Amino acid sequence: MKSAKQKMKITPMLRQYLEIKEQYPDSILFYRLGDFYEMFFEDAVTASRVLGITLTSRNHKDAENKVPLCGVPYHAAPGYLARLVKAGFRVAVCEQVEDPKEAKGVVRREVVRVVSPGVVTEDQVLDDRVNCFIAGIIKKGNWGLSFLDISTGEFLVAEFVDEDNLIDELSRMAPAELLVSDEDDPALTAVLARFDSLCLTRKEPSWFYQEDAREFLLDHFQTANLAGYGCDHLKAGVQAAGVLLRYVQETQKTDLGHIERLVAIEQDGVLVMDEASRRNLELSRTIVGGEREGSLLAVLDKTVTPMGARLLQRNLLFPLRDCREINRRLDTLSFLAGSDNGLDAGLLVIDQGESRRGADSIRQSMRKALDGVYDLERLNSRVVLASANGRDLLALKQSLACLPGLQELAAACPGLLCDDSADLDLLADIHDLLAASIREDVPVGLREGKLIKPGINEELDRLVSILTDGRRHILDLEAKERERTGIAKLKIGFNKVFGYYLEVSRIHSAKVPENYIRKQTLVNAERFITPELKDFEQQVLGAEEKRLDLEYQLFIDIRQQVAAASSRILQAASFIARVDFFAGLAEVACVYNYVRPEVNEREVISIKEGRHPVIERSLPPGKFVPNDIHLDQSEQEILIVTGPNMAGKSTVLRQTALITLMAQMGSFVPAASARIGIVDRIFTRVGAMDDLRRGQSTFMVEMNETANILNNATDKSLVILDEIGRGTSTFDGLAIAWAVTEDLLSNNDKGVKTIFATHYHELTELSTLHDRVSNFNIAVREWDDSIIFLYKLLPGGANRSYGIEVAALAGVPKRVVERAGELLHNIEQGEYGQNGQPRIAPRADGNKAEVARLPFADQADDPLRKRLQELKLDSLTPLEAMTILYELRDKV
Ligand code: ADP
Ligand code: MG
Repeated sequence: MKSAKQKMKITPMLRQYLEIKEQYPDSILFYRLGDFYEMFFEDAVTASRVLGITLTSRNHKDAENKVPLCGVPYHAAPGYLARLVKAGFRVAVCEQVEDPKEAKGVVRREVVRVVSPGVVTEDQVLDDRVNCFIAGIIKKGNWGLSFLDISTGEFLVAEFVDEDNLIDELSRMAPAELLVSDEDDPALTAVLARFDSLCLTRKEPSWFYQEDAREFLLDHFQTANLAGYGCDHLKAGVQAAGVLLRYVQETQKTDLGHIERLVAIEQDGVLVMDEASRRNLELSRTIVGGEREGSLLAVLDKTVTPMGARLLQRNLLFPLRDCREINRRLDTLSFLAGSDNGLDAGLLVIDQGESRRGADSIRQSMRKALDGVYDLERLNSRVVLASANGRDLLALKQSLACLPGLQELAAACPGLLCDDSADLDLLADIHDLLAASIREDVPVGLREGKLIKPGINEELDRLVSILTDGRRHILDLEAKERERTGIAKLKIGFNKVFGYYLEVSRIHSAKVPENYIRKQTLVNAERFITPELKDFEQQVLGAEEKRLDLEYQLFIDIRQQVAAASSRILQAASFIARVDFFAGLAEVACVYNYVRPEVNEREVISIKEGRHPVIERSLPPGKFVPNDIHLDQSEQEILIVTGPNMAGKSTVLRQTALITLMAQMGSFVPAASARIGIVDRIFTRVGAMDDLRRGQSTFMVEMNETANILNNATDKSLVILDEIGRGTSTFDGLAIAWAVTEDLLSNNDKGVKTIFATHYHELTELSTLHDRVSNFNIAVREWDDSIIFLYKLLPGGANRSYGIEVAALAGVPKRVVERAGELLHNIEQGEYGQNGQPRIAPRADGNKAEVARLPFADQADDPLRKRLQELKLDSLTPLEAMTILYELRDKV
């Protein structure tokens, strides 16, 4: 194609196209041509395929010079653009930047902005409920990471030492596009391999090492340093942020005034979860299919506004660790949910029933008020980026109109929301400005008039009245002239050649006054003009054009006034987000019957009648069987949960993790009651999930996740192990599972709260050796030859795996089932030693008290034992010790 381009005869327009296209090689160029955006060459081929529009060609008769071409009409462009961007393409929008009437030669054109999956403000592309981030990644000593959502103005920064944490953060924030250096760095390549479905933007390496990236930020924020944002110490992070902002500025070619601050992503005060754990728990997406539906987020999301939905997602992915903060959220929720157990006595003096009704009505009123609020953050961005139209301003006005009502409602909620409402800026000036000036019936376009209400601008009113009153003016003038001249049949007409004229029939020619200027003589009549008539004509003809211009100017002016209030609007948006977050969670709590958890710093997790929030919703009401879980550091630190397949092991494990996480987010939880001692991290290793896409074996992934847990869990963590060792042979697997459990028991001398579901029922034997291990099983009832699932967690280990029953259920021949039973019996015979301790437990070093004792240990009169007991180990030299060892060996 390239050589074809070089060979062909090139028109000036095509030359201009190629020059511009050369600057945007990785974008599809929307080249404005009259009322169309045209695409040429490869772009045309791609776009016609993706958009399903006809591919034609210029010069189609001349094979040599054929240029593939397709186009989309200007007015329908946003839809097409959205589809391309959603399909992962970048689109460079190239406009005519001078008036074609004034152009000499080819009209000057420029790319006015580039739209890509991560840098987009179009409603058609954006999902209301989620942020649309572009992430910038840089390796500069540490990993620097920055996220920017141009549609809301959010700008975040973080820094990491190791790749795993970087990957965790990237997958948590789920950006739509990555900006990285175009260099061959193996570490970077490895990171990118994990996100291979994302739109990737590469820039030459020099771009990423600009000395002045930090200055660029300072200049943007107009500050002397970044200490005020708590980011000054993040060298690599700030570099990433500077580069990212500059990149976005370059693609948008406009003021990014709505990006007002840089926020360091909180890493210390939050409950940490690695990527695998988050995915396993299906917090915001399901594992299979990656759908929102079926995730915890989907169950918890009863927010009304996009800001609320985004805040909920953020809070779900960043649960808290600070006890006070969590309880402040819970207090607010308690109030809004009208919960009996949640209220701080003294907050309300009315009786419970009354308070419940009061809370219900406050919550419902809030949700109703929120219903009128549009996406303020994104509207604001469009205002600042000068792409907002009249309807956007109306939506903004309507949203602002909800503020006073929301403020009043928030003020009635003791605690967080009341504090928020106290110094809330209601933006009455902006609301009133819009209410007074923008017509309710504004069109989408800005050049067709009908934008501005009457009474705002005198000149505009005059122009409008000329236009609407034009007809009456003519009649008035006609009447006046008839009277003045006494010619009853005088009339005013209009044609394209002379414009307005006065027509008098020949017979009255004598009565024509002196100031009439003859223009045309017809057979029966003569046509005249007067200065007054021409003056009027000027006004009418000019008025339409002037009116459109003036309305546009006034609109731009109003939009700029609104843009100047950007930071105030963003504050209002964040207030609305919080109200919505709480009202939504309170609604969930009421509708789904959740309770306020007791959250404290003690090391106990105790859940009564806990339910799995997502599975519960998929079952008919009342069908979910609730279960109790108790974890502490003295008696039940590690729970070994056994039971057959499909018994509900995974469910009870996950629900424990989810309830803990929900509590730390500040939400009510699906349980009869719950005491949650705050955890620092939740780890989950769930199921045998194939990660073929990443080219790792299941077992490798399983061991990676296990290693991560063993290396990072603390005595404040919660660990959920759902089967480990499945991916290898039984003995390997059992051995690994056993050793992992032992390690978790002795982690930091304290142990880690762990629930371990396993099909190795041998693991239940650990409880005979360790005080802090308890066995549970999920009850099933055997009925004839089959199993009925009861889903009830009961103390005690399942004494068997039920694998053989399941095999029988599945139709494995009876003779095989029976033989398997026999073999199982034989194997189980060998499980315990003569001392009743599990045979697999002893250690090679044999010196752990908890481990099964040596066989001869019980024989008190044994000579070896006597000799050993007499030894004064502290005073023996190594040589003496060796000698004694030889002596002892000779005796046995
Ligand atoms: P396991 O891990 O023991 O194989 P799961 O936890 O995956 O079993 O549960 C299997 C299915 O059983 C779930 O998908 C759900 O439909 C049902 N189930 C699990 N726990 C319960 C419960 N407590 N109440 C009702 N149904 C349940
Ligand atoms: Mg399972």
